[in-house]
Amino acid sequence: MKTRITKIIATCFLFVSVITCIFNIATIKQGYEVNRIKTDQRVVMLTFDDGPTTDDLDILNILKSENIHATFFMTGVNLAKYKTDQNVKVVVDRIIKEGHTIGNHTYNHNEYIHNEKKLIEEIQKTNQLIENAYVENNVSILKKEIPVRLSYLQYFKGIDFVEKQVGIKYLVRGYLGTDYNEEITGKNKIINQYMSHLSPGKIFVCHTRSYAKVWLPKLITNLKEKSYSFAAFRDDAGQMDSYKKYGKLVF
Ligand SMILES: [Zn+2]
Repeated sequence: MKTRITKIIATCFLFVSVITCIFNIATIKQGYEVNRIKTDQRVVMLTFDDGPTTDDLDILNILKSENIHATFFMTGVNLAKYKTDQNVKVVVDRIIKEGHTIGNHTYNHNEYIHNEKKLIEEIQKTNQLIENAYVENNVSILKKEIPVRLSYLQYFKGIDFVEKQVGIKYLVRGYLGTDYNEEITGKNKIINQYMSHLSPGKIFVCHTRSYAKVWLPKLITNLKEKSYSFAAFRDDAGQMDSYKKYGKLVF
């Protein structure tokens, strides 16, 4: 009898564990997908990950000619070349001088699940490089106001702890298409992915790639034809929450 009760308790325990596990994965999956600006206004935010590299130059030229500000989520490992690689310095200085925002995309672009300590170190190290680049350009910025996007849009339970430890104010994810794989996706599919996920307040995750010059102008034209404006973090007065005139950043 006692053995039977033990078995029933063990089965119940296993059942609850499985359900909890499925629920956790579901929560992560849902959180993983998207965040946005909560607004009814026709506004999108353009963001570019994985730079800085010289591939940003075409993107910057396009944004300049369209008078749009964007956010560039940089890896520390690329930004560390600021002091030694003149080409990287030119890109980063232009991003700052032309009113765009630099975001933190971790140092090594790894997976950090169950490794919060490493993630904290990498975000802090990259934040320091970002601050140094702004200072070089005589722009003052608070580290806690640097937007953060984890590599692969990672989102897991330990993020809350990381956010508190680093003092992250803006954890940004957004809609991720497959613009980073242009051989498979191609111009029209990339544009369709973004346009079919368009709604007020959407944040588009794009990538620093040379192929962006092929599809970005048409995407911007399509967005403007639908009367969309472009939200950004930094405004001309140096405020880092410029997007707030449209609404809050929600998850
Ligand atoms: Zn990335």
